[in-house]
Amino acid sequence: MSNRDPNTYKLLTPGPLTTTLTVREAMLVDRCTWDDDYKSMTQDIRARLLKIAHAGDDYTAVLMQGSGTFGVESVLSSLPGANDHVLVLVNGAYSKRMCEILARHKIAHTALEFDWAETPDTAAVEAHLAAHPEVTMVSMVHNETTTGLLNDIESVARVVKAAGRTMIVDAMSSFGAVDIDVPGLDLDVVVSSANKCIQGVPGFSFVIVKKAVLEASKGNARTLSLDLYDQWATLEKDGGKWRYTSPTHVVAAFHQALLELEAEGGVAARGKRYAEMNRRLREGMEKLGFRAYVTPEHQGPIITTFFYPSDDFSFDDMYAALKREGYVIYPGKLTERPSFRLGNIGEIHAEDVEAILELFSKYTASHRA
Ligand SMILES: *Cc1c(COP(=O)(O)O)cnc(C)c1O
Repeated sequence: MSNRDPNTYKLLTPGPLTTTLTVREAMLVDRCTWDDDYKSMTQDIRARLLKIAHAGDDYTAVLMQGSGTFGVESVLSSLPGANDHVLVLVNGAYSKRMCEILARHKIAHTALEFDWAETPDTAAVEAHLAAHPEVTMVSMVHNETTTGLLNDIESVARVVKAAGRTMIVDAMSSFGAVDIDVPGLDLDVVVSSANKCIQGVPGFSFVIVKKAVLEASKGNARTLSLDLYDQWATLEKDGGKWRYTSPTHVVAAFHQALLELEAEGGVAARGKRYAEMNRRLREGMEKLGFRAYVTPEHQGPIITTFFYPSDDFSFDDMYAALKREGYVIYPGKLTERPSFRLGNIGEIHAEDVEAILELFSKYTASHRA
């Protein structure tokens, strides 16, 4: 493990996450944004992202400055035209955020609400689309990082596409670890970011999008800097040059992270590691008396929400105890009951899971007396 520097700790958070030393080392060079070497790095990233998405020539990959939310906002504020209406399938904080974005831009939308512990009901989506011809686009989250639940985008995509609507997926915390056959599902737009399952550092997001959808959106953007079409047009025209200053160090780190994803064995191998670490963590925590929020059938491979084990449980106290031993955990985001989350994406391996479970075991034993 390359991360045993006493000044660092491992992040059990869903991004930023623990990166390899080699990814961080890629940032030690200052690069020029209009230099050919840098531009070809951008172009190689775009090509590799399309490959991960199984996407061919009818799709393109657009990189956008800012964290994942900037990517989602870029999509939702650039693609819908004046006559579009977006249906948002809400079962967590990130799908709720899509509604906030649409409201901020005064774009017509409807929130279809579902239980946060369940994947959206496909029949309800199908019925809503049949009853609401004004809806032209459907937007949903793949892995709801709020809870750890993996939504069933396949069955939803089937009814959305059969009904002839545009389908937008926030695959922020799944892309790179959960295989998504973007053309196979006929998805129009998939958004993710540098600091999630590809294991780069934070600083930009990326959008896999059908060229025809992007072309049809020309002139629709409500902002200048998040204009997805313009960003694409510049990347294409100038062979990998971003509009406005790009996060050069972050881009270099991401390129290295993509090489390391391939070396690990690609999406399948990474997904397998995450799922295995998630299973071990979850089973170990349950043995210690921590109950998970999401049932095993809906649990995604990257983060788990646990309820507080008792009323007198102190998150802050446990956070401090774990941090002293080199691990940082994540607060919960459920509204109904106090909870916390353990992420297992990034450079988290079996020995980390053992160490974390040991720390939780010690902590609970000393607080039971
Ligand atoms: C991380 C994440 C985002 C983006 O959040 P940022 O804080 O902007 O990085 C959006 N959706 C999901 C599902 C996420 O996990």
